[in-house]
Amino acid sequence: MNPMANPAPVSTDDAPRYLISDLMDLLESYLEPGQVREIYRAYLFGAEAHEGQHRVSGEPYIYHPIEVARILAGMHMDAPSIIAGILHDVIEDTGTPKELVVSEFNEEIAELVDGVSKLTQIKFESQAEAQAENFRKMMLAMVKDIRVILVKLADRLHNMRTLGVMRADKRRRIARETLEIYAPIANRLGMNQIRLELEDLGFAAMYPMRYRVLSEAVRRARGNRKEILNKIESAIGQRLDEEDLQYRLLSREKHIYSLYKKIRDRVGSFAEVFDVYAFRIVVDAVDTCYRVLGMMHNLYKPVPGKFKDYIAIPKANGYQSLHTVLFGPYGVPIEAQIRTDDMDRVAESGIAAHWLYKSSSDKTGGGNNAQTRAREWLRELLEMQRNAGNSLEFLENVKIDLFPDEVYVFTPAGDILELPRGATAVDFAYAVHTDVGNTCIAAKIDRRLAPLRTPLLNGQTVEIITATGAHPNPAWLNFVTTAKARSNIRHYLKNLQNDEAVELGQRMLDKSLHNISSSLAEVPDEQIDRVMSESGFKTREDMYADIGLGNRMAMLMARRMVPADEEEKPVETGHSKPLAIRGTEGMVVHFARCCRPIPGDKIVGFISSGRGLVIHTESCKNLSELRSRPDKWIDVEWQSGIEGEFSAEIRVDVTNQKGVLATLAAEISETGSNIENVSIEERGGLDTALNFTITVKDRQHLARVVRCIRQLPNVMRISRSKS
Ligand code: MN
Repeated sequence: MNPMANPAPVSTDDAPRYLISDLMDLLESYLEPGQVREIYRAYLFGAEAHEGQHRVSGEPYIYHPIEVARILAGMHMDAPSIIAGILHDVIEDTGTPKELVVSEFNEEIAELVDGVSKLTQIKFESQAEAQAENFRKMMLAMVKDIRVILVKLADRLHNMRTLGVMRADKRRRIARETLEIYAPIANRLGMNQIRLELEDLGFAAMYPMRYRVLSEAVRRARGNRKEILNKIESAIGQRLDEEDLQYRLLSREKHIYSLYKKIRDRVGSFAEVFDVYAFRIVVDAVDTCYRVLGMMHNLYKPVPGKFKDYIAIPKANGYQSLHTVLFGPYGVPIEAQIRTDDMDRVAESGIAAHWLYKSSSDKTGGGNNAQTRAREWLRELLEMQRNAGNSLEFLENVKIDLFPDEVYVFTPAGDILELPRGATAVDFAYAVHTDVGNTCIAAKIDRRLAPLRTPLLNGQTVEIITATGAHPNPAWLNFVTTAKARSNIRHYLKNLQNDEAVELGQRMLDKSLHNISSSLAEVPDEQIDRVMSESGFKTREDMYADIGLGNRMAMLMARRMVPADEEEKPVETGHSKPLAIRGTEGMVVHFARCCRPIPGDKIVGFISSGRGLVIHTESCKNLSELRSRPDKWIDVEWQSGIEGEFSAEIRVDVTNQKGVLATLAAEISETGSNIENVSIEERGGLDTALNFTITVKDRQHLARVVRCIRQLPNVMRISRSKS
């Protein structure tokens, strides 16, 4: 069935039908009839979706997607890309849900359209050079399928071609974006033709006066050149004909924008830059390229040092060609590019050239997905470089751009931050400023509240909410990925540990002084300071911290402060006041994981060098092992009225029954306790042991939890586990 036999039921206007038939003719030249029919169906779908919409110029909206598809067809892109070109605005502009595109077409096409919409949504605001670079990287990073970029470039190209109807300020914004973002991306992908057109259109819209002056100068200069140009062209042609070669000889004129850049960057005056006669000679084989080079050097004298062999050593984007400069008649410089047809195609269309070339020769269908092809492209570039014996630096560049390990996100002010993949809102906060990181309490991602641990995605806008007096949380260390966040959190915790150690050390020393019937208040300051400097401390804080961290024995320090003859009572009466544990000394007082003491348990403290105090229950099995170091033990007790959350472990034996874990979990949270961890011991039989780590306030609270669980029908046994 000929798709053209179906009249388009979209518009009574003749023009769109002309456009679509134009596109169809082009497609039939290189695609299968079935594919062309499918594309026509996409056209009907798109026309219906855009029905009633108009462009600023007043023409029906569907003109634009058809033109985009035509640009893609001009590059011989595959059928899914063409369909994506036709549908590229339906999700963004007509509210057509992505699911509908999936059901009407397929997942692949829906992903392409969705990818283009996502790129359209991110807005480029800043003018900074570095920002533009990051923006380009962000765009490439957002793209899973490189065809999305090709569709987007075609979209931008058509928008630039029809920019004239826009308001002046909008025109300039789009033009700047084109020059700073899209043209360099096209360049990176080796798509020379598109890049040159984007640049000239962008330049014309950005600087209309300069553009007019320059093109006028070019028009005038062209007349003067004509004679010399013809003379050189026929001389070269004649020389090539003598050798009986198959060749194409093209004369090139510099594009306005590249002329402008050369003049702006003071490469030379207009005359110097423009009066270069540039030719391209395209031949069938690599060997012929070198032969032609020899002929050219024989015909005109080469300018020393200007010969470049990009065949042996291709450019980063895969460009290959021989370049040389010759002294022409009257001493005019002649630039010659010599390359094969294949190289010429790559030079014009870059990655897109590779595309069609692969898809037309490879009809097996295997390995057809776009990611594989993009990798294939890179692999072949690599191969080419390797054969050329050149460094692999180019590959690094291209690879980083196409499959980066970074994410690029916006600050609320529109600046772009580059973070490693997996970075979270906390990493972002520290990247903005250390103070922002240290006081952050929540994040808004794309205006929605999100947990601080949320990993960031490309293109998101992240806002950090801070509060004065807020502090970094040690738990952040479990998910931050940047060195800056990590070191700042550690630094803060170290300070915190120091503060807590000072406080604990002071209390430990005071307690030890009590044991020998004195106290910090009673010991004269000179005594304390004497012991302090004898022990090599500069300040009392340093001394207290060292005691608190367990590096110095509080008792020994106390004895030195109170001379023996002043001791009225024997040491270690056994009735001395134990050290009160408040449960808030998180950095220097640790609760042993073996027995997990909670308020109400009888406890003892073990001084651990450098860490501070470790609290065990008196009944802990590990105690016997540590009994041999009585000097390291310290009497401790819970401070009365202690508040906080403590971890306890319970073991529940249950009969295997569906939903038993859920029932238990619900019951536990009913009692105001949080579940921190659950592990399950399957024992193959009818029963299962569940180990819960839960948070409780004290022994009473734990007892309440146990009572509630015991009532449940499937629970056989319950005990507090002590490993
Ligand atoms: Mn568009």
